[in-house]
Amino acid sequence: MKTLKGKVIYYFKPNEDFNYEVEDGETFWIETDDCYSGQISSEKILRTDIDISIMDAAVGPIRVKNAEASDIIKIEIIDIKFADHGVMVTSINLGVLGDHITAPNTKIIPIEANYAIFNNKIKLPLTPMIGVIGVATKSEEIHCAKPGDHGGNMDTKEVTIGSIVYLPVFQKGAGLAISDLHACMGDGELSGTGIETAGKVKLKVTVIKGKSIKRPIIETKDSIFTIATAKTLEEGIKIASLDMVTILMKQLNLNFPDAYRLLSATCDIRISQVVNGVFTLKVRAPKSLFTNAII
Ligand code: CA
Ligand code: ZN
Repeated sequence: MKTLKGKVIYYFKPNEDFNYEVEDGETFWIETDDCYSGQISSEKILRTDIDISIMDAAVGPIRVKNAEASDIIKIEIIDIKFADHGVMVTSINLGVLGDHITAPNTKIIPIEANYAIFNNKIKLPLTPMIGVIGVATKSEEIHCAKPGDHGGNMDTKEVTIGSIVYLPVFQKGAGLAISDLHACMGDGELSGTGIETAGKVKLKVTVIKGKSIKRPIIETKDSIFTIATAKTLEEGIKIASLDMVTILMKQLNLNFPDAYRLLSATCDIRISQVVNGVFTLKVRAPKSLFTNAII
């Protein structure tokens, strides 16, 4: 099984030469630096010391054979493995309480077995996830530190082992790229970072023909999530909700008012992240609503 590593992009673009190629249906590993491209190697190095233009550099773009514009790629996340430590910085104006921070500070957090060792007393069970997972865009150039309809820096904790991420394909070959692994992160990513770590992920990528989606959809063992990134929380809530109503109408053969009622009766609005300059929202539906595969 091959491991893709070493060649990265800083922007998701509509057209970029592919650095890698995989077969439709192939399982492979991707090895990535942490979101700082490895620049923070000790607690002496602060966020203000590093080049933030190369943050979230994503391993890719990967040509997925057989993928054409308006297809879907199905990405099954089989495994996530971490390096032996993670990094959490604080910095002035970083995160929702960044105005309370008076000086930047870096904390290195050892990762041992299935725990992140926050301090002598606090051991956190790992909640592995991929922060950046995206494809070549429709038309814009979007920095890897930003999310959008192409995926990108969604910082959504459900992008975890055992989940399936469905991404729209906008360009022939898809142009998949991945980075920004987190050992732990809560909804919101409130201080502006997860426990940022280097590591590797094992994925299986399959092309789905004859169906299209506008934005990422995530499937977990018991849930379906529509994912929306927007300039405001309100706008994100509307987009993720309308996407879910559209799925409910189609899958369950309902008119709009009934799908809208079902949304309200069974689905939850949740926040993925509020710290990447835009907001990423998700609506969760229980998978038990659906008898057929969602995609
Ligand atoms: Ca991130
Ligand atoms: Zn990150």
